[in-house]
Amino acid sequence: MRRLNLTNGSTIRVVVLGGSNVGKSALVVRFLTRRFIGEYLSGIEMTYQHEVNLAGNWVTAEICDALINKEEKNYFKDIYNNTEAFLLVYNVCNHDSFDYACSLAQEIKAYHGKPNSGSDIPLLLVGNKSDLDHFREVKQTEGEAFAKSMPLCHFIETSAAESYSDVERAFGLIFALVRSRIRTSP
Ligand code: GDP
Ligand code: MG
Repeated sequence: MRRLNLTNGSTIRVVVLGGSNVGKSALVVRFLTRRFIGEYLSGIEMTYQHEVNLAGNWVTAEICDALINKEEKNYFKDIYNNTEAFLLVYNVCNHDSFDYACSLAQEIKAYHGKPNSGSDIPLLLVGNKSDLDHFREVKQTEGEAFAKSMPLCHFIETSAAESYSDVERAFGLIFALVRSRIRTSP
């Protein structure tokens, strides 16, 4: 991992990635404000700060609602080396968005760099829009099976629209995964 010690005042970074319109912004805004507002700005990358207690230490979690810019030369290298965990979001009503999230997971896990190596970075695959079950194109078992096939990859379904507790569980899980990977001081 990027940082071996975690103390009061440390910063961790969690990045939310996925195709467009899958609900990345909705999930982040819902987590931070408890609200679902329906329409979100698109086309800009936003980073929010959220205080979280990890193993007794208050740390700042930077939550990045990311835009992928593959044109930028060092994009992936920079993002991997500065990130403790990723949420990879897809829309359960859009199979292409699932395939895309899976391809991102594979890309991250295949990354070998220093100080971070992809296989060490916790991933959470998030199937969002579970409230739209009648339009579903991706079975829950597909998400589960893919996550199982990857090292350190967990899976959850959420509805940013209808369930705050889903969203809270997703972020709680990602913070728990980060906590389990980072040694605390001294
Ligand atoms: P992003 O492009 O991935 O950031 O997607 P947005 O967060 O902007 O959401 C795209 C659209 O999906 C918006 O119209 C949201 O209101 C809608 N949306 C997001 N999450 C959900 C959800 O859980 N259920 C439903 N029904 N709609 C959602
Ligand atoms: Mg967005």
